[in-house]
Amino acid sequence: MIDAPHFIGGRWVAGSGATFSSIDPSTGQTIWSGNAADAATVDTAVVAAQKAASGWAALDVAAREKHLGNFAALLGKYTDRLAEAISRDVGKPRWEATQEVQIMVMKLDHTIRAFRERSAGYTAANAGVRYRPLGVIAVLGPFNFPGHLPNGHIMPALLAGNPVIFKPSDKAPLVAQETVRIWEESGLPAGVLNLLQGGVETATVLASHPGVNGLFFTGSSRAGLALSKVFAGTPERLLALEMGGNNALVVDAPSDLVAAALLTVQSAFQSAGQRCNCARRLLVTRRTDPKFLDHLFEISRSLNIGTPEMTPEPFCGPLISAEAVEAFLRAQNDLKRLGGRVLLGGSALKPGTGFVSPAIFDVTGVEGLPDEETFGPLLTVRFVEDLDEAIREANATRYGLAAGLISDDPAGCERFRREARAGVINCNLPLNAASSAVPFGGLGLSGNFRPSAYFAIDSCVYPVATLDADRAVLPGQLPAGVNLPA
Ligand code: NAD
Repeated sequence: MIDAPHFIGGRWVAGSGATFSSIDPSTGQTIWSGNAADAATVDTAVVAAQKAASGWAALDVAAREKHLGNFAALLGKYTDRLAEAISRDVGKPRWEATQEVQIMVMKLDHTIRAFRERSAGYTAANAGVRYRPLGVIAVLGPFNFPGHLPNGHIMPALLAGNPVIFKPSDKAPLVAQETVRIWEESGLPAGVLNLLQGGVETATVLASHPGVNGLFFTGSSRAGLALSKVFAGTPERLLALEMGGNNALVVDAPSDLVAAALLTVQSAFQSAGQRCNCARRLLVTRRTDPKFLDHLFEISRSLNIGTPEMTPEPFCGPLISAEAVEAFLRAQNDLKRLGGRVLLGGSALKPGTGFVSPAIFDVTGVEGLPDEETFGPLLTVRFVEDLDEAIREANATRYGLAAGLISDDPAGCERFRREARAGVINCNLPLNAASSAVPFGGLGLSGNFRPSAYFAIDSCVYPVATLDADRAVLPGQLPAGVNLPA
């Protein structure tokens, strides 16, 4: 049991909310327990952040850059330690956890560049724009990238001059604790970054606090909708939502069928299907060689799934929890009940852990499928006539995060980029590949037009327009109806 799980005003402090634990999904063992932050603790964190706000905003950008640089350098030094925490909390293979920490290190350069390009301000003649920090920012993180995704909001928020309160996923408290310890060692001033551990209750109290000027959320659409209700009627506070997806991947007659099958497997089953931009719906045009599916089954069946330290290294690890395994099995039963045909049955592999094998269902001709995100390795396949029908099907969702096309035809790719309704569109690359050098966000139930990644900086500042003259002078022509003193 961790005695002091929260980091507030530069000190680790005890919590008095409900106890919760992190269970290693590879072993079923409890690896972290602590008390959630209750309303009083949340309030203390908001006050600490408010106290730090003006001093932090008053530093020049170069000084804040230096603080971020110190953190990134230490991240590099502690890569193994943080990767180990990621593997323990969420079960990612060590290679993938290490990659996640490396992406966090690289975020520094992207953040500095994005700030200079998008928030530096400018003057043109006598008019200008300055960007100011919003104030206290709350960051709510998901479990599936417990280091990288919160970091993708924390770094820009800090660089822009905002103090931050970080509330990580209650399924990844160890990663958050290790990350904040690194920030602490980097010498960040007290109160500039605060950590509150806890689940939905802590998140809701924090989101409702009037002292929070902005909230950056990454997680499920269900939670994002709940937060948008909490923010209703408070237009003075900013809410940025990054949510789930029900993403389509179209395969249209690629010449290299094995490469296309591998791309599909990576798109659907990487991280055991626990990426927001994983392919959920595969749309295969009639002119695609049927051997594509044979390769898809073969590669899917032969995937190595295992513990983080397994050798040779596994392709992916477990689902996050017993509840996630149940949801994965339930979704397959629902598909069967609605008329879906099992092409590859996914099953639980080891009781007491999150390990499952991937599932593929043929749903061609099946009506009334739920337009929901199943956060696991479950792929439906629908055969469609041509690219026209594929694009119509791809767009038939309330979500709008990612859409992909595998095709040798450049004109088809260009048309797909024009017509697919999604915030992230990949052609001939894994659907869940993403770059920190461009924005990341979705439409519909996937986001509220406040994309993250390269554009995360935009939500950290507000523009102030200025109009200036050197001194007050009488105009050549007086305003109509004005008489000056004699
Ligand atoms: P989640 O929604 O369960 O939790 C995310 C965060 O929100 C956690 O900190 C959690 O404590 C908090 N939360 C949960 N319910 C809440 C509520 N009702 N009110 C306020 N806060 C609440 O998500 P998760 O299971 O941790 O992560 C997986 C989900 O996140 C998937 O849906 C995935 O698609 C999505 N995701 C989206 C992106 C993106 O950039 N669009 C990236 C990664 C994950």
